[in-house]
Amino acid sequence: MPVFSHAENYNHEQVVFCRNDDVGLRAIIAVHDTTLGPALGGSRFYPYASEADALRDVLRLSRGMTYKAACAGLNLGGGKAVILGDPRKDKTEALLRAFGCYVESLGGRYITAEDSGTTVADMDHIRTETEHVCGVSAAAGGSGDPSPVTAWGVFHGIRAACEDVFGSTSLTGKNVAIQGVGNVGYNLVRYLTEAGATTVVTDVDQGRLDRCATEYGSKVVGLDAIYSVEADVFAPCALGAIINDDTIGKLKTPIIAGGANNQLDNMARHGEALKQRQILYAPDYVINAGGLINVYAELHHLPREKALRDAEQIFQTLKNIFATARERGVTTAAAANLVAEARIAAIGKLATFQRPQRR
Ligand code: NAD
Repeated sequence: MPVFSHAENYNHEQVVFCRNDDVGLRAIIAVHDTTLGPALGGSRFYPYASEADALRDVLRLSRGMTYKAACAGLNLGGGKAVILGDPRKDKTEALLRAFGCYVESLGGRYITAEDSGTTVADMDHIRTETEHVCGVSAAAGGSGDPSPVTAWGVFHGIRAACEDVFGSTSLTGKNVAIQGVGNVGYNLVRYLTEAGATTVVTDVDQGRLDRCATEYGSKVVGLDAIYSVEADVFAPCALGAIINDDTIGKLKTPIIAGGANNQLDNMARHGEALKQRQILYAPDYVINAGGLINVYAELHHLPREKALRDAEQIFQTLKNIFATARERGVTTAAAANLVAEARIAAIGKLATFQRPQRR
């Protein structure tokens, strides 16, 4: 398996293979870029079909974190870890603490957090071995559920997209179709309703649908019907890759702006297809950065109010990205990458000039 020439290796600074046979640990930590600060990204515990799949995932995801932190204006780099195994069967305190020892060995270059297959309780175990972990329980000094901050950022991203398309940030009378009303989607329904918008929702969980209908008067539609709802905004808040060859022709909204990760099945092709159809796409990793902003606040012992205020900046960040896309004639997804790369390049130069000790 090629490592240095791996197709997903976009100039990663460091990739660490972690192994402890006594506790059954096999993990990979990828530090993509620390120009802006320590590499932060969650630990995914997943039964990968192969080691190659695990490596591909950690390289891709860690790079994504670099771009996300850069666009969010945070002083963080991008990193990620994958732990190979089934979290329901293989997860033990000893394994998590052994993983924590590896995180500690990096001396703060990498900071871990929760991701799929890991929980707040797991972060508490990791915390026993290293301080370089966030998303720990409130009892251990953690910041708690990030979803309200994520949804608050998505809400302000929707306002920015509405201003771009309709000439006003007002959401009064706007109709928003939301796919998935879990932690992020439910909070988004709340913020939108309070701002005077109406919502159309879908979910696989009837209880969650009922909650939105009862509390906020949301209209409920079927799982496939959500794509063809005639609304002002489509907000994906459940799954990735939902903008794909099957769904893109069905869309009847001028805006896609939601909290789900990796919404475009193929970033280049489907980003371009949305541009051709004049559907404004708010790049997912920009609009859903509230969760990262929340853990950043935790790292620096800042209150939730500060995280919420910082998440509001997603409004301006998106406006800059929409403007860059227009100026350069590229998709908004490509423009987001350009904005991230420009910030890393600018701060990187500053580091060479003013902080030679970092080099
Ligand atoms: P969640 O599990 O609480 O909510 C997801 C919801 O989607 C659930 O209600 C689930 O029943 C529903 N769902 C699942 N399959 C569906 C389908 N086929 N059609 C419609 N609904 C379906 O998760 P969450 O924390 O709300 O996160 C939602 C998305 O936002 C995920 O993609 C996540 O990676 C991303 N995200 C979350 C945060 C955060 O702070 N929680 C931060 C950044 C990104």
